[in-house]
Amino acid sequence: MKPIGALGWAAVFVLAIGCDLDRSESHARRPSPPRLPTPGPVVAQGESVHLALGTPTDASPQDEIVLVKPQYVVSYNRFRNNPNWVAWRLTSSDLGSVGRTQRIFSPDPQLPAGVYGVHHRDYSGGGYDHGHLCPSAERTATVEDNAATFLTTNIVPQRHAINAGAWESLERWSVEKAREGWDLFIVAGGLWEQSCATDRTPQGNLPSEGCPAIGRSADPARRVSIPVSTWKVIALVQRGQGVESVTATTPLVAVEMPNEAGSGSGWQRYVVTVDALEARTGYDFFSLVSRTLQSHIEALPYSGR
Ligand code: MN
Ligand code: MN
Repeated sequence: MKPIGALGWAAVFVLAIGCDLDRSESHARRPSPPRLPTPGPVVAQGESVHLALGTPTDASPQDEIVLVKPQYVVSYNRFRNNPNWVAWRLTSSDLGSVGRTQRIFSPDPQLPAGVYGVHHRDYSGGGYDHGHLCPSAERTATVEDNAATFLTTNIVPQRHAINAGAWESLERWSVEKAREGWDLFIVAGGLWEQSCATDRTPQGNLPSEGCPAIGRSADPARRVSIPVSTWKVIALVQRGQGVESVTATTPLVAVEMPNEAGSGSGWQRYVVTVDALEARTGYDFFSLVSRTLQSHIEALPYSGR
């Protein structure tokens, strides 16, 4: 994790230079850019509709392989065999009559040669669900769209109680909001404990032995690391609108849910601020929104319904 692509920092620099008048108190708490990052596989800002509010970027792109799909965009971590994050827009036309088209998750054919493709059975007997990030229920317009959510680049090991509880309740809420006429720009991912860090070297590295993991193989390169929590950020904009429509009153939702067997069923108790999640994950979300606006709306916990 923690990449910020050259493009990302370039954008930050341009904004910083171009918006000197914006240098208000709220900028002071933002850390200054770290050392120039190693060039990494970071997708261009705005390359996909799913990234219309910005590509999540951090200071270490070496553990990210970005895969752009019609249905969503993945930052894949080939060392943890998990996504770092998945980003997608949810709009009412994504919702149709197609049900769950698959029972089995498949390796992602878009992964580069030499990168292990996780199999459905790697999760078997591990005590964790195949936890969708971009959910099946948010891609029901066509069989292709739905099938795309059943790739293992779109899942993390997630406790059933949270997958079928609070996490799912936020997914249902999101579908309702899309039906009400909102477009939702969503990013979801996991957080891993320090032993699972994959950005210790400039080339990236496998997690250490202590990193909790599941899998069918004893080969550390084929183990699936278990996140300590899963998180999601959502921006709600009027249907058909993009980054230009974000204002000081644009609602943002951010949650972090511990990956525990006993977690409860309502998502609201897991609400945090986007700023808090940015600090936890190292990612900058909604980076195409002006820094001034980000500083304002990312500091507010969601208080709506
Ligand atoms: Mn799920
Ligand atoms: Mn941000």
